[in-house]
Amino acid sequence: MNDATPQGLTQRFETDVAIIGAGPIGLFAVFELGLLDLKCHLVDILDRPGGQCTELYPEKPIYDIPGIPMVTGQELTEKLLLQIKPFHAQFHLGEMASALTTLPDGRWRLSTDAGTEIIAPVVVVAAGGGSFVPKRPPIAGIEAYEGKSVFYAVRRIEQFRGKEVLIAGGGDSALDWTLNLAPIAKHLTLVHHRDGFRASAHSVNRMRELVNEETIAFHVASVKALHGREGELEEVTLAGADKKEWRQKANAFLPFFGLTIKLGPIAEFGLNLNENLIPVDTAKFESSTPGIFAIGDINSYEGKLKLILSGFHEAALMAQAAFRICRPNDKLRFQYTTSSSSLHKKLGVA
Ligand SMILES: Cc1cc2nc3c(=O)[nH]c(=O)nc-3n(C[C@H](O)[C@H](O)[C@H](O)COP(=O)(O)OP(=O)(O)OC[C@H]3O[C@@H](n4cnc5c(N)ncnc54)[C@H](O)[C@@H]3O)c2cc1C
Repeated sequence: MNDATPQGLTQRFETDVAIIGAGPIGLFAVFELGLLDLKCHLVDILDRPGGQCTELYPEKPIYDIPGIPMVTGQELTEKLLLQIKPFHAQFHLGEMASALTTLPDGRWRLSTDAGTEIIAPVVVVAAGGGSFVPKRPPIAGIEAYEGKSVFYAVRRIEQFRGKEVLIAGGGDSALDWTLNLAPIAKHLTLVHHRDGFRASAHSVNRMRELVNEETIAFHVASVKALHGREGELEEVTLAGADKKEWRQKANAFLPFFGLTIKLGPIAEFGLNLNENLIPVDTAKFESSTPGIFAIGDINSYEGKLKLILSGFHEAALMAQAAFRICRPNDKLRFQYTTSSSSLHKKLGVA
């Protein structure tokens, strides 16, 4: 487990519920738990909430959310974020939930790869199909440069100031970062294996303008080799469509080849797994480890449908069971949001 962040600091938080995954189900869990006065922290490896909805189909319409005839993946995420606003959940984005251990007092400690520790009596795994991880290009020895001069995401733009930047890819991430880093970098080159892009037309047009003005360079090419020392990139070998190779300067390489979903560290948490899913009961959606719940696409039970509406139902029942663990001496009162003045107060609509 992590004892420290890369900067040497551990950030420790105590809360009622630690949620792994800020997809639609993790987000709605905050609402159901919030109605019961339970506070939440959410961890997601992605740098924004929404899970599959925002990562895989932000602009596609969803037609089977009850009461909403049509909503896109992005809009649904925005509506969920608005709905949970009164509960002030704390997000830890861009962090991988990497270890889960028990404490002597029976609570859980969820650790992330960024050194965050969340201590809570209840952990909710809402991890969908697993964590979204960037696809690593097949370049020999690339691992040695990762985190030093090869990056799959931009966390701090300033890090690229004055650098020879090479970006590879043809989707929105590659084009967006080409446009954003062009004014910061000493020189920026975009490479893609063909002269066609999957990114928005507006970004592609702007990129072509910058190439015509000779502000940036674009080559139909692929990266064949990296050259440098101790993780610090100095040059790359590029190969054009005609297979002709050349070397050029580069201090930072950002490959944007999409994301792949892997169960990741959750497989090592010691939970009972069945084909990478967490079996749960259908009254509480608790795993076979008391205090650890699994909701949304990550769980399995007889008749399970991997639909958002199923996950919403699971979140509501999980919250009732989580309350009993977090507040063993308090009575749970069933209340409607329409008519309960105490719920109205919590929602800020009183
Ligand atoms: C193209 C497409 C269309 C779809 N259309 C519909 C539809 O019309 N209607 C419908 O109901 N459903 C639809 N679905 C399915 C729906 O998107 C899923 O059921 C839903 O996203 C599940 O939500 P979730 O919160 O359980 O998981 P996810 O949305 O997968 O979110 C899980 C989150 O957990 C994070 N995570 C996982 N492991 C870790 C870790 N160790 N550390 C940190 N973060 C972690 C991931 O990064 C991710 O953000 C569609 C799916 C796809 C791909």
